[in-house]
Amino acid sequence: MSESFEYEFDTLAVRAGIERSQFNEHSEALYLTSSFVFANAAQAAARFSGAEPGNVYARFTNPTVTVMQERLAALEGAEACIATASGMAAIMSTVMALMQGGEHIVASQSIFGATQQLFGNILPKFGVTTTFVAGTDPPAFRAAVQPRTKLLFIESPSNPLTEVYDIAALATIAHDAGVLLVVDNCFCSPAQQRPIELGADLVIHSATKYLDGQGRVLGGAVCGRKLHTEEVFKYLRTAGPTLSPFNAWVILKGLETLRIRTQAQAANALELARWLEAQPQVMRVFYPGLPSHPQHELAMRQQASGGAIVSFEVSGGREAAWRVVDNCRMVSITANLGDTKTTITHPASTTHGRISAEARQASGIGEGLLRVAVGLESVTDIERDLARGLVA
Ligand SMILES: *Cc1c(COP(=O)(O)O)cnc(C)c1O
Repeated sequence: MSESFEYEFDTLAVRAGIERSQFNEHSEALYLTSSFVFANAAQAAARFSGAEPGNVYARFTNPTVTVMQERLAALEGAEACIATASGMAAIMSTVMALMQGGEHIVASQSIFGATQQLFGNILPKFGVTTTFVAGTDPPAFRAAVQPRTKLLFIESPSNPLTEVYDIAALATIAHDAGVLLVVDNCFCSPAQQRPIELGADLVIHSATKYLDGQGRVLGGAVCGRKLHTEEVFKYLRTAGPTLSPFNAWVILKGLETLRIRTQAQAANALELARWLEAQPQVMRVFYPGLPSHPQHELAMRQQASGGAIVSFEVSGGREAAWRVVDNCRMVSITANLGDTKTTITHPASTTHGRISAEARQASGIGEGLLRVAVGLESVTDIERDLARGLVA
């Protein structure tokens, strides 16, 4: 499958990257080995110098990880992909590989909490600063660019309010300013959105979410042009936040069902969002697949579906929101997402609990807000679970 580009998405999802061993196995082999043996001293020297390609040590490469990287690159339409130990390791490795002290990031304010911490509190220790832009308006991003800006960083749709950013417009702004556009594609996965086709330079993944999709392992990835991923690889092989072969194998198997899972989850999410809109206790539903969503048209243009994250605001604040959570018998009370099992969380007291009440209010994360990551159960059962707390 070296000419990956000749195949359609569904074919690439189950076959891209396969390289069989001497045993000609059908399923992808799991190579649980930390190092590799050389035929002789000359080969060892050639492998170490890079004169001869091949595996040396699993902090650098492992064949199972390589298959996963090639498959994910094919699905994202990227030239290359580097796998990392987690989604945060992917973000940190990208910054460490491509930036220097004194340089600057422009990021959307509504990004994952740990990313916000990394950009806002850890990177400044090394002279890398970030301007956070509120709202989805592309000109606001242009206004925040400085002479030493290196990256424009967004997540679309955002967590938990499902704000949608215009990736093509932001790519134009970034490139006009000589800046790279980085998109965290965690909420959509390449099955529902391909940022590189829209002009993004790099795509970040927390493979922990939809790529595994069954809540088993942590993982991450950086996809993009070789020019950039090779820098990320150089950092990774030295600093060490490499993906384990076992986790790569699990994620590889997750990729095979990625599209049919996420498509079914998105269909469930749309049905649930419509049902929520009809409930009198629900004041507002945030779901890009609904015509009432402020960026519905943009979402339908750049995504294959509305995704599977549905947030909604109940009347009655925290008390009413917690009542919905506490009356769930089937839906899991957990902040994780992207699983085949539906999860529910109250952002104001969990994922966004560390930011001040004023900042939360300013970003629209009220006390009555709930986020549901819709799974593959019957949507009737999900509705029954949520209905219990809405009437209680
Ligand atoms: C979970 C998540 C991450 C971090 O991924 P980990 O695998 O937990 O390190 C980054 N971005 C988004 C949007 C996420 O949801």
